[in-house]
Amino acid sequence: MYALKPSELLKKFGVELDKDILSYEDWWFDKGIKVSESVDRMGTVPLRMFDRLGNRIDEVLYPEEYWEMLYKGYKIGIVARVFEKKDIMPFFNIGYIVSFFDAGLYCPYTVSLSTAIPIHKYAEEDIKNRYLPKMLLQSEDVWQGATWMTEVKGGSDLGNTVETIAEYRNGKWILNGEKYFASNVGAELAVVAARIKGKPKGVKNLSLFLLPKYKENGQLNYHIRRIKDKIGTRSVPTGEVELKDSEAYLLGEERFGIYLILEVLNISRVANSVGSVALMHRAIYEAYRFASERWAFGKRIIEHPLLKRQFEDKWELTLKAFSLAYETAQVLNRVYMQKPPYSPEYHMFRLLAHLSKYWTAEVCVQTCKWAMEVNGGMGVLSEYPVERLLRESMILPIWEGTPHRQALDAVEVIVKKDAHLFLYEYLREYDSRSEDILNICREIKEMPDEDKEKYADIYINELAETVSDVLYKKYKP
Ligand SMILES: Cc1cc2nc3c(=O)[nH]c(=O)nc-3n(C[C@H](O)[C@H](O)[C@H](O)COP(=O)(O)OP(=O)(O)OC[C@H]3O[C@@H](n4cnc5c(N)ncnc54)[C@H](O)[C@@H]3O)c2cc1C
Repeated sequence: MYALKPSELLKKFGVELDKDILSYEDWWFDKGIKVSESVDRMGTVPLRMFDRLGNRIDEVLYPEEYWEMLYKGYKIGIVARVFEKKDIMPFFNIGYIVSFFDAGLYCPYTVSLSTAIPIHKYAEEDIKNRYLPKMLLQSEDVWQGATWMTEVKGGSDLGNTVETIAEYRNGKWILNGEKYFASNVGAELAVVAARIKGKPKGVKNLSLFLLPKYKENGQLNYHIRRIKDKIGTRSVPTGEVELKDSEAYLLGEERFGIYLILEVLNISRVANSVGSVALMHRAIYEAYRFASERWAFGKRIIEHPLLKRQFEDKWELTLKAFSLAYETAQVLNRVYMQKPPYSPEYHMFRLLAHLSKYWTAEVCVQTCKWAMEVNGGMGVLSEYPVERLLRESMILPIWEGTPHRQALDAVEVIVKKDAHLFLYEYLREYDSRSEDILNICREIKEMPDEDKEKYADIYINELAETVSDVLYKKYKP
């Protein structure tokens, strides 16, 4: 079982994939795995900023095979199927396969979906008609998206750190500012957080804008200052972006901007959870391949009682993490078209998204570290696949909001929205342990405010473990 393919694990949870997706998985085993490895080993992708005549062009210079690998996902409809079938689950099912091989590559698809959904929900009709169909193409002409909120002073406290200013001039929104961590840089479209000129700092004064790569006159609408030299996820270019009199479109009502920004982030957090589980699955797969062939003290190392037990524990942890991530995805699938003010089910989704983002990323890092240990000295050598898995995993807890942010936001939705009550009602039929959800959250609510923050991670970790245990009973994989 430790050598299950991604599609085989999905099947255990009742997911039947069509033949196109299954042959996509075969392509990964045959070819994609090698392309992905080369892109990682290549290091930071070069940026060509100027053409030979000195014009700014800002091209991200991946090799041709990278683009083939990237577009393959769009071609089988990782984004398009969501709109065609009005169902997000194909995005997560295909994303599970992508992330098993390359967790960084799931990012371009994720931020593209996280751009397409707000366009679909909030853009004015003519903007939607102009841009959405391009994002749903299943060819190399597809337009990609990106989600740029973070600026140099920090990503956690957006209300205080976003200094990009939006101004309405001559019938157009014009943005000026910088984005410091801009993944999928080079994308044809991005959703961007900015403060409207004249409004004071504060999270409620942020709005969400759609930023095309080119201005109406054909010039570049944003510039890439440089590409970040990252520990991992090198299959997605992360850059610094300069906005100088950049043209943009307001999405939704300006006063609801922060809700729209959080909707975008929460979609990405679910994808991050699914990607984390796929990566830990891969780590176990690689640990198993080594442990079933490596000998010590007269037998294969996997046959020693200590390792045998650890494999069983890690596998069960993976199934629990999958249960949590997958359920969160299913709940998102029911609520993603909601707009503020949200239903109690939406608040339950927010709680699940924080628990899932927090916990799956944590257990993924631990599992990748363990897989490295199982591989012993071979595990730290960059010529083999395992050390990369640990590097990739280290990014998952940080982007889309750090573990601290997830724990604190989970506490907030418990305290302010009583989201745990809905969650309890939703889960109680599966296992008597769901009573613990009420007990943990009651304790959180009764604490002094400072302690709610001080112990947030401890309680949220316990809550996530409890919810994943209950969901594991629900799915019985
Ligand atoms: C590879 C990569 C790609 C990224 N791509 C994007 C992207 O495409 N778009 C985008 O918008 N962002 C992106 N980010 C940025 C990412 O979202 C931020 O790194 C993250 O939100 C944290 O912000 P920060 O790094 O500025 O840390 P800070 O916000 O400065 O926080 C520093 C530390 O303080 C902690 N902290 C902050 N507030 C509290 C508190 N109240 N209590 C306790 N601890 C606290 C944080 O948890 C963190 O540990 C990317 C990041 C990485 C690493």
